[in-house]
Amino acid sequence: MSLDGVVRCEANHLGTHNPSVVAVRLLFRYRYVVAHIKRFPMKTLNRLFATVMGATSIALVASFPTVNVQAAAPMISAQPAAFYTIKVGAFEVTAVYDGGGPLSPTLLHEDAQRVLTMLESNYLPTDNIQGSIAGFVVNTGSKLILIDTGTGGQGTKTGKFMKNFRAAGYQPEQVDEILLTHLHHDHVGGIVGPDGQALFPNAVIRLAQSESDYWLSPSNAQRALDGEKDDFEVARKAAKPYEDSGRWSPFQAGELIDPGIQALALPGHTPGHTGYQLTSNGHTLFIWGDVVNFAVVQLPRPSISVDFDNNPVQAAKTRAALLRRLSQEGALVAGPHMPFPGFGHLRVQAQGYAWIPVTYSDAIVQP
Ligand SMILES: [Zn+2]
Repeated sequence: MSLDGVVRCEANHLGTHNPSVVAVRLLFRYRYVVAHIKRFPMKTLNRLFATVMGATSIALVASFPTVNVQAAAPMISAQPAAFYTIKVGAFEVTAVYDGGGPLSPTLLHEDAQRVLTMLESNYLPTDNIQGSIAGFVVNTGSKLILIDTGTGGQGTKTGKFMKNFRAAGYQPEQVDEILLTHLHHDHVGGIVGPDGQALFPNAVIRLAQSESDYWLSPSNAQRALDGEKDDFEVARKAAKPYEDSGRWSPFQAGELIDPGIQALALPGHTPGHTGYQLTSNGHTLFIWGDVVNFAVVQLPRPSISVDFDNNPVQAAKTRAALLRRLSQEGALVAGPHMPFPGFGHLRVQAQGYAWIPVTYSDAIVQP
């Protein structure tokens, strides 16, 4: 190291570049070396050192207030933008976080004590379950497609989809299509702004015909129980600007939506609830919508439905069959309510299934 390097190193170590402080420290540290090179007797050198110390002591005292202590860095206090991208063949698929919040375990159709035990064994609080909401961007190379869009909420906990979508490098006007798994507010809410305008000016909305028919039926809305009335209202408001501009385009169950994107009917959670299978260059990803809402409970015990399931018995049947199929295939799976970013595989265990999340990579890779 050069002399300049030694001085800089010492200055950094001391936390100050005050020349007096650095000079004294250097002289003290290297006085034996100096003695050897210059053939000074140590006694003479120590006397010289004492003289320098005396001469610089006033400067030293004056310099103390300028010494910087580097430990007091401010707390970060907030997470950075939340998105995560993987490769599926030639596609890039990005999970975009909308938010989350506490959900009551009583939403689960299961004995409360048994639920509590499952939460405890997963090191989770027992009074609430932290929910997570995400949507997905599929960049096929020729089209930009969204699968679900979060809540569009204005609260502090949710409604972050658009901010995170932009942070991932995309703009709303680039989106060609939005595929909806269903019309609950945490999936469709993000397509419209608070004043009801379409937030994706060029996107065509695709969803199962049966889902569109159910939620947009005025007579169904009228018959809805109090707890469901909001869901009908949200669906109607979200659909309006897209219907008005001819961009609300339902499909029949099982339709091939785009090259490499197949819709699969998964009824139960809602009447037209749909999953999407992406296939590119022999690789697949299955996005399952709300087949699973509470992973730590419903993967080990797929028979447990939730209050959000429109038809709990049918939902459990759909869940059991899909989980069996995906685990047998060793399929890569994504779910908007799986722990973010929500990409993973299923492994059969003694009871039900375990979730194996994909391993983080700072390169965009095929999991
Ligand atoms: Zn949902």
